[in-house]
Amino acid sequence: DAELSTIDPEVAGALAAELGRQRGTLEMIASENFAPAAVLQAQGSVLTNKYAEGYPGRRYYGGCEHVDVIEQLAIDRVKALFGAEHANVQPHSGAQANAAAMVALLEPGDTILGLDLAHGGHLTHGMRINFSGKLYNVVAYHVHAETGLVDMVEVQRLAQEHRPKLIVAGWSAYPRQLDFAEFRRIADSVDAKLMVDMAHFAGLVAAGLHPNPVPHAHIVTTTTHKTLGGPRGGVILTGQELAKKVNSAVFPGQQGGPLEHVIAAKAVAFKIAASEEFAERQRRTLEGARILADRLVRAGLNVLTGGTDVHLVLVDLRESTLDGQQAEDLLHSVGITVNRNAIPFDPRPPMVTSGLRIGTAALATRGFGAAEFKEVSDVIADVLQPGADLATARSRVEALAGKHPLYPGLS
Ligand code: PLP
Repeated sequence: DAELSTIDPEVAGALAAELGRQRGTLEMIASENFAPAAVLQAQGSVLTNKYAEGYPGRRYYGGCEHVDVIEQLAIDRVKALFGAEHANVQPHSGAQANAAAMVALLEPGDTILGLDLAHGGHLTHGMRINFSGKLYNVVAYHVHAETGLVDMVEVQRLAQEHRPKLIVAGWSAYPRQLDFAEFRRIADSVDAKLMVDMAHFAGLVAAGLHPNPVPHAHIVTTTTHKTLGGPRGGVILTGQELAKKVNSAVFPGQQGGPLEHVIAAKAVAFKIAASEEFAERQRRTLEGARILADRLVRAGLNVLTGGTDVHLVLVDLRESTLDGQQAEDLLHSVGITVNRNAIPFDPRPPMVTSGLRIGTAALATRGFGAAEFKEVSDVIADVLQPGADLATARSRVEALAGKHPLYPGLS
């Protein structure tokens, strides 16, 4: 068989260019990470050829003896990692995990209570034109205008007023930890189910550096590619009582054939996530985010909630001369990739925004420690000041990227 570069030089060329981009820039998008080479290897495997509708031991296709071994490994490892009774590792993505979890728990028209998208929630937590906002009656809770923290008094009040069937706790842009026990108390008080979407912070939970939602929630969903550092995909964790409902909501409810090549890569990622090396990487992730928040504040920038307990920092640019788009573009021009992000009560439109979301997980995977995080934080602070010396910033970024080569074995 011919090589990719012979068969399709256009795709091969863009792939090589992307590897070069990842190597030469500093990735600080909070939802991204670098999957280990072993994960890439499992994902780019012959398992992509295999149909395996059903679950291990109960498939609708022949020839599933090896994929059964692999999917069972993924299930057993993720259950052990988070202390869950049941796991479904088939959701193709975080959004599909959430869709299936809601199908398992709700009927169309039921009420859900989730964090407002503009306050850090995810599209699948009830955004108007997402499936969640179209299928269900959505009520949104918010962060407190002064503290920037999720307003649990409002959560309680809205729960009592609207009697939701499901409360969703979890976020895409929030720099603190949620009180899962309090969410569960509120859910129980109105006979609602509690779903925690730990997509962002699952890696921190796996390393024991963030409270585990599994003992508190009826359902926990996650992606596998953010702090967890695996392939792009989703997982649902539950107790035994919801196992059947969740499995049939995923297949045949939402999906057809599972992506067994991705499930193999998930299995590898879960094995790695149980290691001491992974925990050490998550400690550097957290340390990096704290360093970043500290240094930006010291440089006179506003950071939402004044700091962070997780892998990301939210910069509030309302008092800056830059808007979110300009700040993102400036950082991009020196080789630092972040995303602009609406902040709560943002006066600017969603395509512009007054915020930046900056994460440390990918750089920690690349090997960054305290010294490198200090340096990159100072580069960011400098670039966001008026009249910044962008050429110097660019060479400081190149030096940092050169110090920690990415995927040295890949070409
Ligand atoms: N849940 C949360 C909290 C997220 O932040 C995201 C992704 O950004 C998702 C779910 C969706 O994951 P995916 O992009 O894999 O569908």
